[in-house]
Amino acid sequence: MKKKTISEFTLIELLVVIAIIAILAAMLLPALKQARNNARAISCVNLFGQLGKCTVQYVDDNQGYLMPYKNSGTGAAATDTKYAIGCDASKWLFRSYMPPKNSAGIGRLGRNQKVRSNIDCPAREFDVSLSGNTEYIFGINYKIAGQNKPPKVNRCSQPSGTSILAECHSTEAPQFGATNRTLWFVQHQNRASVAYVDGHAGLLSGNKKPKLESFPFYKVAP
Ligand SMILES: [Zn+2]
Repeated sequence: MKKKTISEFTLIELLVVIAIIAILAAMLLPALKQARNNARAISCVNLFGQLGKCTVQYVDDNQGYLMPYKNSGTGAAATDTKYAIGCDASKWLFRSYMPPKNSAGIGRLGRNQKVRSNIDCPAREFDVSLSGNTEYIFGINYKIAGQNKPPKVNRCSQPSGTSILAECHSTEAPQFGATNRTLWFVQHQNRASVAYVDGHAGLLSGNKKPKLESFPFYKVAP
């Protein structure tokens, strides 16, 4: 009688196959994660490119003045709905140039917030370590806009090197550059998206340590 031969994996062979798959996965996953991070950073910079174009349009439509930090009201009494950015969708400073697709706040995230704005960084999640319930995720250059009246753009001596909007990380206000540069939120491989006064955008490294009086925070003639 002829003996039937059945080929089957031995336990050792099975373990070898599993080990090879595990090694391949371990090699591929960081590359996939890197690709996803890069895609999100590109999407975020594109958003800041649009914000930069809105800035140029805003300046054109407002006799050459840059945006204010707050739409109305000044001082501690002003509530966040008065911020020009980091505000309710209905108060969004650029709503006529870049209309929001829903009512979620622009430039801010709430704890347990379900609906996200389309004007948003895809990499950003609410920082659960915060004690507050609102996190401002992008903001305005306080050195320029945080004055009683923002300056005219022609007082800016280097528009291509002066930031106007950037990713930030604050429970208090949608701004950066008031006291120190750490308000930039460098979540894209240690870089933050920044829009400049001339309308271009880019990723700025967190390793740069400029003085508050210099580029890219402030270069506006007195
Ligand atoms: Zn981003």
